[in-house]
Amino acid sequence: MNIARDKLTGEEIEAEELKLLISVEKANYECIDVNCRIRLIPCSFEKHHKPRPYFKTEQGVTHTLECTFSQYTELQNQSRIIDVSVNGLFPVPYPSKLVKPSRKTIKTNKEENDHLNPRIIKNVRGVIDNLQSEERKRNRVVTALGQIVDFYLNFPNNRDNSLEILNIHSEYRFLFKRIKGKSEGQYKGRKIYFGRVSLSDDNVIERENRLFIQLYEFDKWIKNDERNEPKNNYTISIDLIQLSNHKKTKILNELVFATIEQKNDEDEETKKKAYIFFLGDPPKEDTPYLFTVYENYVVCRYDEILRTGRRVRS
Ligand SMILES: [Zn+2]
Repeated sequence: MNIARDKLTGEEIEAEELKLLISVEKANYECIDVNCRIRLIPCSFEKHHKPRPYFKTEQGVTHTLECTFSQYTELQNQSRIIDVSVNGLFPVPYPSKLVKPSRKTIKTNKEENDHLNPRIIKNVRGVIDNLQSEERKRNRVVTALGQIVDFYLNFPNNRDNSLEILNIHSEYRFLFKRIKGKSEGQYKGRKIYFGRVSLSDDNVIERENRLFIQLYEFDKWIKNDERNEPKNNYTISIDLIQLSNHKKTKILNELVFATIEQKNDEDEETKKKAYIFFLGDPPKEDTPYLFTVYENYVVCRYDEILRTGRRVRS
């Protein structure tokens, strides 16, 4: 599992953030579902640990029957192949809303989850109330972009699910856009853009309070006499003035995790690649190959991007 609740603060914490903590209190983490709350053990977070950090359950302990978060993670095992929706509805809460982290958010989260308690749902009477509980079922407010990206990767047949990102309302399929080919008119509005990232150090440059990451996405190949090379690589720009060192490290760590995952993959036929996902704005006319990242909403994943399911496309 890549997310847990910090018992002390009541806030959700992404496993990746464990690396940035001065010390990790091992007994301080629990399942994010308020009806479950079993202890989760932080793993692979020490400096010398190379793989991406994660949370695991204690030996012999399983999530409670009511735990919708574990139901959600179990669904992922089949969702890359089949459409897991039932009568057009997603069966368990999924990340449907990205908000900025704040104490107020956590409170809202808890309130919404309380409505998911099956005992409460059973007591709901009338058609309208039932509809409302169905609506509730679909809703999980998250503060981490990684949760949204993982849904996109794991549920290609359910990308018509609604999604709200910092007050932009749409569906998963419309709020993600692959960066590829010519720039002209392709990219519109703030959304989650993604592309392959080349994992060498010289693709990351810090200059004038901005961090520039060059992608392995470009306009086209051009043929020179000597060798072929890509023309007009895309680059993303991150404003460091608004960013704490902590947040900058988090972004750089993402690149490191993706590098390690790629290196450790021994499957020669894999279709997985290292991708960078970011919430950001499209290139401007005078800089057609430069994207601007919004705050620090950046994650990397070493994965295969599956085509959006047929039902969703039609
Ligand atoms: Zn649980």
